[in-house]
Amino acid sequence: MRAVTAAVLLASTLVAPLAAQPRVPAALVPDRTQPIDEAATAKIKEYTTAPEFNSALTDYLPASATVPSPSAVLGDVAGAPNVLPYAADVHRYFRMLAAATPRVQVVSIGTSEEGRERIAVAISSEENLKNRAANDARLAQLADPRTLGLDDARAEPLFASTVPVYYITGTIHSPETGSPTALMELAYRLAVDESPYVRDIRDHVITLITPVVEVDGRERMVDIYRWHRAHPDSPTPELVYWGKYVAHDNNRDAMALTLSLSRQVLDTYLGWHAQVLHDLHESVPFLYDNTVGDGPYNAWVDPILTNEWQLFGWTNVAEMTKMGMPGVYTHGYFDTWSPGYLMFMAAMHNGVSRLYETFGNGGADTLVRELDADESSRTWYRQDPPYPQVKWSQRNNNNYQQTGLLVSLAFTAQNRELLLRNFWQKGKRSVEKPRREGPAAYVLPGDPKRPGAQAELLRVLQAQHVEITRADSPFTVEVPNAAEGKGGGKADGKEEKTEDKKPATRTFPAGSYVVRMDQPYSRIADALLDRQYWSPDDPQKRPYDDTGWSFGDTFGTEVVRITDARVLAAKAEPVEGPVSTRGGVTGSGAVHLVAPRGDDEMMSLRYALGDATVEAATARFSAGRRTYLPGTWIVRDADGDAMKRAAESLGVTVEAVAAAPKVATRPVGKPRLALLHTWQWTQSEGWWRQRLDLMKLPYDYISTQDVAATPDLRARYDAILFPPVGIPTSLTVNGAPTSWGEPLPWKKTPETPNLTIDETDDMRPGLGLAGLQNLRTFVEKGGTLIAAEDAAQLLVERGLAPGVRVADSGSVKVVGSILQARFPDAASPIADGLGDALAVYSAEGMSFELSNAAFRGWSRPGSDRPTGRGGPKDEDSVVGRPAPPKRAEAPKVERWEAAPLSVEQTRDNPFVIPEALRPKTLLRFGDADELLLAGLLEHGGELAQRAAVVRVPLGQGQVVLFAINPIWRGETIGTHPLVWNALLAGEALGGKPAETAPAAAKAGR
Ligand SMILES: [Zn+2]
Repeated sequence: MRAVTAAVLLASTLVAPLAAQPRVPAALVPDRTQPIDEAATAKIKEYTTAPEFNSALTDYLPASATVPSPSAVLGDVAGAPNVLPYAADVHRYFRMLAAATPRVQVVSIGTSEEGRERIAVAISSEENLKNRAANDARLAQLADPRTLGLDDARAEPLFASTVPVYYITGTIHSPETGSPTALMELAYRLAVDESPYVRDIRDHVITLITPVVEVDGRERMVDIYRWHRAHPDSPTPELVYWGKYVAHDNNRDAMALTLSLSRQVLDTYLGWHAQVLHDLHESVPFLYDNTVGDGPYNAWVDPILTNEWQLFGWTNVAEMTKMGMPGVYTHGYFDTWSPGYLMFMAAMHNGVSRLYETFGNGGADTLVRELDADESSRTWYRQDPPYPQVKWSQRNNNNYQQTGLLVSLAFTAQNRELLLRNFWQKGKRSVEKPRREGPAAYVLPGDPKRPGAQAELLRVLQAQHVEITRADSPFTVEVPNAAEGKGGGKADGKEEKTEDKKPATRTFPAGSYVVRMDQPYSRIADALLDRQYWSPDDPQKRPYDDTGWSFGDTFGTEVVRITDARVLAAKAEPVEGPVSTRGGVTGSGAVHLVAPRGDDEMMSLRYALGDATVEAATARFSAGRRTYLPGTWIVRDADGDAMKRAAESLGVTVEAVAAAPKVATRPVGKPRLALLHTWQWTQSEGWWRQRLDLMKLPYDYISTQDVAATPDLRARYDAILFPPVGIPTSLTVNGAPTSWGEPLPWKKTPETPNLTIDETDDMRPGLGLAGLQNLRTFVEKGGTLIAAEDAAQLLVERGLAPGVRVADSGSVKVVGSILQARFPDAASPIADGLGDALAVYSAEGMSFELSNAAFRGWSRPGSDRPTGRGGPKDEDSVVGRPAPPKRAEAPKVERWEAAPLSVEQTRDNPFVIPEALRPKTLLRFGDADELLLAGLLEHGGELAQRAAVVRVPLGQGQVVLFAINPIWRGETIGTHPLVWNALLAGEALGGKPAETAPAAAKAGR
């Protein structure tokens, strides 16, 4: 009896899952009896370079008497050779479509950095769109299982009655040009085709499309393509700017959400409560569904999702292979670790992330393409590989994109209940996180050392639609041992020994922020706030992107991971509206005191204060109602109202006192600033430029060509920022060859109205020898030149940084990791507001070595004792004589320091650098046992303690070199002040004697 009961129970529990088994799209057969647009069908055939590069789903175009096809705007079918529409024209078509049929709606989702509109287009049955509000209300309940008390029974009726939303995004990457026309035609098909399988899609799916994600970059790319058509015999100018700020990295912004495109796509995706976000790319032949990718998978995604990746991916491969289309595969190179990709917004918000790479020609030319062996070889996941050589057209690309999407939409229509069940389950498991796998919450303490950075981090979480609460009163919870703690403990350098594993309790003050994990979007908060570990032994040896990003570390703000569920009982209120720090002026008097706080706001405040005299105390002092740390600003002659306005708008606390405190000071400058870019590549520079703009700092945007043409840069600027370039240093200097070929302009003309941001008649020339000389003169005449990564390497190679070399990285392996760093001199102005340590972003483990000579003089690792008598610690002796007098014990030299020169090295040596001009390390990498905070680090001992930021005096000025990238993807808020502090300190960065007569000090230089 018992056994029977068990069997019955087992059978009944199996029924539900079986009913939800995925069904492959059946009957993907078009209805050829419906009216067909014969002319368009003939064109499609003509523009497809071989029959197998199209499918039965897209080798014809249905006709409509009332609904315009894409040719109404394009003048030809989608994917026609030589036709590439601007985003404005793409949008115009979608609005024509919406005007012609109730099956299509267009909404505006916002504007770009340059003011261009982005849209979302919904396509479904008339009934579905009419009832959209009610459907969305159901989707909203499934999206937030708390609304149904996490009760499966209450959710059950919704699975059958709700229409899922499948969101497709096109051309985020501007040189990947095919998706807008593919999506125009797809939308037309979905609106008018009466084939049963299309009706099934229309009736059971809301297809949502943003045809052009990077609208600014699209217009520029079309300009470039038009230029190419008009100058067929010349190479085409490189698309050096895509969006206003970044190029390819716009698809790495899904964590910090600094770009309008990221925020608008996320808001649209979540606003529509969509189940899938499918982003279209073009690089890999012929259709690589990289959704499945390869390991390691992101450690915070739900395994339910990784199963969905497989379902979609292999269905795509199977169905398209059956249709006879070669070169369709999934799996392959892509590790799915970083959540920075646009599509990953879905993975981190309980949906399904998807991405296609199809084969594009970077424009609308039909070309013979040659594939590398690794693209065209047969392997276990690519049994029907792309051809090694192929004549390829934009239409081919559009065929593959549309066919893949139609297969996916049909799969969604047929498996809508499964997808909605999974959507509900993933949301429910997100809410149940505290009791399933934990943690219960993250706490950001209410007394942050760097309030601006903390507020910035909280605003990022809010932009991610994460709910934040703020504690009304102090609360006490168990906290992990310090080794598991984060940020602040380390920054203080006072944390307990890692051997001490005993949990402790900690009381957090009122005003602490609590990010609860019992909310639908706990997953993204957890992924951003936790640390990452990529094992050096992982079978994946080529990480696709950064391996670490832990935002508590990179924002330089303490984030405590709490597993103690009592944290959820803390009395806390939801935070409404964007988190901000409250600032203002307290006290009264003509002198204002501003405590250092290590955030962007200090820099903005300095410029907001205009010509006021600002000095920084070089020692601790007491004034007004408190004790102030070194680095505190003492501001005289500030306009009281201006100070009040600035303090309030920037959220900075300022105290006014009657008289200046008696303390030694140094000037705080307000340098005239330039940001330097090349004409070869602007991506990394773009992240710096974006930050300057967000902070509303005044600066000139200059190119290497401007530098080459300006002998007296010093007359214009006090400081020049030279961010990483991302190309070989020789290319930065030499540019592209100019001894043959035609000039390649980047210029706003009637032919290319969108080529803006900067202009040149010829992109080819680089910095050149004149530019190098002008930079040298600029520094020698008192300028500050700040350079990072390869730009720093360039200055080293070209002799602008005597006594510095880029260390041989040996076997160190770092791939976009977060590493611990320390200030050798925490009293240096570079450390103002930062404590004695901070987390830094290292792309590849670059570091510097120092010497006190401009040639040789590098320190050598101490040698072991020579072979001889005794044990390893014993002294050797020579037979037949007493030991010679011992050499004086050499002073200990740290790895970030230059070794003292020996007597032999200093004798008669013109390369010895005078004491005052020797390079000095401002920031060094942490010790070997603390170095890795997040990501991948192998053989870290070789990088440990090496110099990360150095200052090199040159003439009257200085060069500041960064081996790390302090301003990266909006994620490294914590290291921004390294740049700001260097700029504000000016020559005081070198620790020159402090001004003792404050009244004599002049602000600015
Ligand atoms: Zn791409």
